[in-house]
Amino acid sequence: MDRIELKALGKINLGIDVLGRRENGYHDVRMVMQTVYLYDLITIKKRRAPGIGVETNLYYLPTNENNLAYRAAKLLKDEFHIKEGVSIRLDKHIPVAAGMAGGSSNAAAVLFGMNRMFELGLTMKELMDRGVMLGADVPYCIMRGTVLAEGIGEILTPLAPMPRCFVLLAKPPVAVSTKLVYEKLDSREIDDHPDIDGIIDGLKEENLLRITASMGNVLEGVTIEEYPVINEIKSTMKQYGALNAMMSGSGPTVFGIFDDRNQARTAAQKIKAAQLAKQVYVVNIHNARRK
Ligand code: ATP
Repeated sequence: MDRIELKALGKINLGIDVLGRRENGYHDVRMVMQTVYLYDLITIKKRRAPGIGVETNLYYLPTNENNLAYRAAKLLKDEFHIKEGVSIRLDKHIPVAAGMAGGSSNAAAVLFGMNRMFELGLTMKELMDRGVMLGADVPYCIMRGTVLAEGIGEILTPLAPMPRCFVLLAKPPVAVSTKLVYEKLDSREIDDHPDIDGIIDGLKEENLLRITASMGNVLEGVTIEEYPVINEIKSTMKQYGALNAMMSGSGPTVFGIFDDRNQARTAAQKIKAAQLAKQVYVVNIHNARRK
C-alpha cells in the first residue's frame, strides 16, 4: 500500500465537566464526546525523499513539527525506524482552533493510517496509548462515536449511541485559546456542574429530549464573557427550533441539536444573515467506531 486516504472527523461535546487541575497543568475532566460528519480529508503517501512533508489548503497552518499530523507521523517513524519518507496532504474543513478537535483528529487519522500502510500491527489500544502523547483528545479521535472521556480525556468508556438528530455548527470569527480558557477557569470556583450522568442516562433511554436537557459545558461561561456572540448564536438556534444549543470544547464553535433538518437549515440561514458566523454547517452525527 503506497497511498491511503482517510476522513478525520470532528467532534462536539454534549457535556464537559472539570473536576480538578493537576500539578502539570492538565485537568481532570468528565466529558461526553460525539463525532460529527464534518471532516478533513487526509492523504498519506509513501515518497522517495526521506522525512515527512505536510501540505494543507490553509496557508496559516504550520507544516512542520508544530502540525499535529507531522508529529503523529514522526512518532511512528521514530519508534518503528521507518526509513521511507511520507507526504501528508490535509484538506481542512473542520474549523481551526474552534473546539472541534481538528488537529487531534488529523493526528488520530495519521496514526491509524500509518499503522495500516506500514503494517505495524498496533492494536487500537496501542494506537491510543501513543495518541495521548500528542494530545488529550487524540485517543478519542482514534475511537470515535459516543464516548465518556475521563482522566485528562484519555480514559474512554463507549456509551449508547446518540439517537437520530441533526447538528447545526456555527463558528464565529473569533480565536479562542484553549489554554487561556482553562487558566481563567482555574481562577474561579465552579459552582454549577453539568449533569453528565443525565446525558448518559438519556443516551441509554434513547431519549433525545433528556440528553439535550442535560447538556452543559463548564467552560462556556469563561469564553462567553469574552465573546458574547456565542450567546447570540445559541439564542438564535433555540429560537429557530434547536432542542438545545451549547458551545463545544473551549469554543468558540456553537452547536445546536435539532430533530428536524429543515429547522436546522432555517436556523443556519438566520445565523448567516445576521452575520453572527460565516462557517455554518448542518451535519449528521456519526456513531460508528473505528475498529
Ligand atoms: P480542541 O477541540 O482539541 O481544543 P481545537 O479544535 O480547539 O482543538 P485545533 O483545530 O486542533 O483546535 O487547532 C488548535 C491549534 O493547533 C491551531 O491554532 C493550529 O495552529 C494548531 N494545529 C496544529 N496542527 C494542526 C492541524 N493538523 N489542524 C489544525 N490545527 C493544527
